[in-house]
Amino acid sequence: MRKYFYTDGVNKFGPFSKDELKSQKITRNTKVWYFGLEEWTELNKIIELNDLFVAIPPELKPLNTPIKSKIELPENKHSDKPIQVQLKTKKSKLSKWVIGIAILIVISFVIIRLVQKQSEANLYKEIVANSYESDEKFDIYVEKFYRDLEVYGIFPKKPKTTIIKFSRLDQLDNTTHIHGLSLGHNDDSRIEIYINPSSWKQFTRPMRYFLLYHELSHDVLNLDDLNNKPINEGKMMYPEISSYEKKNMDDFIESFHSLFEEQAKK
Ligand SMILES: [Zn+2]
Repeated sequence: MRKYFYTDGVNKFGPFSKDELKSQKITRNTKVWYFGLEEWTELNKIIELNDLFVAIPPELKPLNTPIKSKIELPENKHSDKPIQVQLKTKKSKLSKWVIGIAILIVISFVIIRLVQKQSEANLYKEIVANSYESDEKFDIYVEKFYRDLEVYGIFPKKPKTTIIKFSRLDQLDNTTHIHGLSLGHNDDSRIEIYINPSSWKQFTRPMRYFLLYHELSHDVLNLDDLNNKPINEGKMMYPEISSYEKKNMDDFIESFHSLFEEQAKK
């Protein structure tokens, strides 16, 4: 038995027997093909299917592009859209969250840093406000520091203002500068150092030199502390000078020599 195919202009349907073709959604203009036919031909032009199309009511008006409305493709497009939109919405919601959290973290860090700086500033204000002059001749240490630097060919500009005072630094329990503190660090217009009087009282002579040279190195040479690893023990910028109880003046001299030698090379 001959099998027929028909097309809606996009998709092919079939094969159908003549009887089966009757129940398909076809019109008089539907193009049909069967094996042996040269090309897709309108139903009403195929004589053997005449009785088929006679049973189909005529078109209300001629259709150039019949049954196109039945094409499934546009429908698919419609059903695709909401999924894409949903995905996009989900994505943008997610990235909004990520951005929001990131901003929150940055803001928290800024606030924490500001609070830290503020409390640090308050602490320094307190230290300065409670500082006092002493009979201790700190000038001698400063003069010697500059002379020693000159030996190594280092000539930092001597600032006009030199403040070295006692002040209780015990409230600096979170830092290693409970014994001495340089506030002129990175400020070449002044030397500003505060010494904890109780540390000064306890410290041996070499330790006092270590402490003053350590703070002057912060202040005048803008040097930072070394970390407190054992390898740095004995060095001038070692942060725990309170552990230098057994050091003598030779140790001190050796320590500042190696520091200044290192600085001279820079
Ligand atoms: Zn230090």
